[in-house]
Amino acid sequence: MTRPIVIAANWKMNTTPADAGDLARTIASRTREPGVTRVICPPYVSLAAVRDALAGEDVGVGAQNVHHELAGAYTGEISVAMLAGLASWVILGHSERRAMFAETDELIGRKLDRAVAGGLRPILCVGEVLADREASRETQVVDAQLRGALQGRDAAALVAAGIVIAYEPVWAIGTGKNARGADAAAMADAIRASLRGLGWGDGAEATPVLYGGSVTSANIAEFLAEPGVDGALVGGASLKPDEMAGMVARAGLTAAARGLAS
Ligand code: PEP
Repeated sequence: MTRPIVIAANWKMNTTPADAGDLARTIASRTREPGVTRVICPPYVSLAAVRDALAGEDVGVGAQNVHHELAGAYTGEISVAMLAGLASWVILGHSERRAMFAETDELIGRKLDRAVAGGLRPILCVGEVLADREASRETQVVDAQLRGALQGRDAAALVAAGIVIAYEPVWAIGTGKNARGADAAAMADAIRASLRGLGWGDGAEATPVLYGGSVTSANIAEFLAEPGVDGALVGGASLKPDEMAGMVARAGLTAAARGLAS
């Protein structure tokens, strides 16, 4: 089963509408690699600038979050309907949103429903904190996150929407302390086992699993060398065109090796 290679940039709360377009254009022009799916997720207010800057480029634009309702008295929030024409991807369940904005698996599942119904391609983030890894319960934690968000949901619809799972160990995000390639590979296997357990059947194998957590051009090869890992969700390094060029170039080698580049 051939899965896409995805390099997704999570700009977090960085860039302004005045500079995001230039940055996106520079990154796009330096990362044209056959077989690599590129996605840039700027802050909401920069989506239009990035969309316009990327006109004619084969780069997806994503939001970093979306609300679970379509409209209503939710001050400061953004719905799927508001993203129409601005974004085609959305990051859901990022650990920063889980930790700082109290997002639960149940809420993330509702956001998934909205995203898929609204034609957005979700990147669902899961991952354990350091205490879980030290207690060797990372697999159980991630399995519980997947069950909490996905149980009872229409697997076929999620697979048809092109859902991507990003394994992001919390202790590796923004810390400069990345996981090992073997850890990411073991978790990718565990994630697909969880999806099979949820009744996803062939959809489990078809679902791309990314690694995220202090990925750079210097360490991405370790992750892409693992057949079960299909790319990276990148935070800090995704704001640097040189880093993006290096990471996507390495992803291009993997795409060619996996027969995706033609
Ligand atoms: C992220 O925000 O998803 C992330 C992985 O951040 P960083 O690459 O900075 O660790």
